[in-house]
Amino acid sequence: MMRIFRLTVLPGDGIGPEVMEAAVSVILKMGEHYGVEFELNTELIGGSSYEEYGVPVTDETLQACKESDAVLLGAIGGPQWDKLPHHKKPESALLKLRHALELYSNLRPAKVYASLVEASPLKEEVVAATDVMVVRELTGGIYFGSPRGSDENRGWNTLTYSRPEVERIARIAFELAGKRRNNVTSVHKANVLESSQFWKDVVHEVHRNYPHISLTDMYVDNAAMQLVKAPKQFDVMVTSNLFGDVLSDCAAMLTGSIGMLPSASLNKDGFGMYEPIHGSAPDIAGQDVANPLATILSVSMMLRYSLNQVALADKINAAVNTVLDQGYRTQDIAADGDTVVGTSKMGDLVVEALKD
Ligand code: NAD
Repeated sequence: MMRIFRLTVLPGDGIGPEVMEAAVSVILKMGEHYGVEFELNTELIGGSSYEEYGVPVTDETLQACKESDAVLLGAIGGPQWDKLPHHKKPESALLKLRHALELYSNLRPAKVYASLVEASPLKEEVVAATDVMVVRELTGGIYFGSPRGSDENRGWNTLTYSRPEVERIARIAFELAGKRRNNVTSVHKANVLESSQFWKDVVHEVHRNYPHISLTDMYVDNAAMQLVKAPKQFDVMVTSNLFGDVLSDCAAMLTGSIGMLPSASLNKDGFGMYEPIHGSAPDIAGQDVANPLATILSVSMMLRYSLNQVALADKINAAVNTVLDQGYRTQDIAADGDTVVGTSKMGDLVVEALKD
């Protein structure tokens, strides 16, 4: 019997709907050609939800997400909503989704494509063939610790990690490394922070169950330097919420192309929300110039990590490579001699390459 996957699709604001349209065309093509069926349920999120319902995400949308097999999100936000109170801002929908869906692990791959190596701000010999996966703890650490607050003279936050929080994110990292190059770097600041020493110790305890994976400890300041100096040394980096926030953006910039980078946020059962790392890019919204490949590659991650359709995920990655090798580029990644195409054309080209 053919398996039907139920997806909640949240296009969002700005370029979100444009890049999502391209990604949906890829999903539909997968359904037509490869014996899987997708049932898509599209909902408003972010500013577009605020305009319609007065909140950035409704309870109905949260419920729809919970009842689906995976969630695909475009991007949210825009200057017209910047002055709203915090809980009404489009971006608050993301925190609410992560919290409601218990998405505690954030996977941020940064891969340098051979055909795009010139887009990197680093020298080719340093960055070529870089393929790093940053695993960031997403629902704990200093972003959520209490007490927190500020008064006239002080501001304060609290950094704590519990054993189960560290154990589960460490397991994710070791499992992922086992499907990649068997190498985990645990990033912390154990020389200064007690919570980091605890993190380090627990990761080592979990490591005993994964003897075939190599584990390296690295202080976060050194990790930032090493990412820029010798990024090829990294396979999987696992780290806390705050350090991961910073390092995943640093890793992203190695590729030089924000429009190419997907992400996944997973819960304990492998259910996940998938989205490009870029925002709603109001400066280019509505012009059919946004790069849809980050969202298309997010579909690939969804197939790999939540829907267990690894062969289909590989097909999407291969189709993206084919299109890039043919010299097609959206304007953000174009160099001299490339054929510049718009958002929807890029989507069509990937769909076309999938057929081959
Ligand atoms: P941004 O990622 O939207 O844009 C940064 C720059 O990258 C812009 O010049 C933009 O044109 C370019 N860019 C981004 N995505 C691109 C793509 N797919 N193709 C081509 N170029 C692309 O970041 P920003 O300008 O700081 O934020 C804009 C809005 O997005 C803000 O409201 C912000 O809060 C929101 N935001 C949302 C998310 C999210 O939805 N997860 C993430 C980051 C920012």
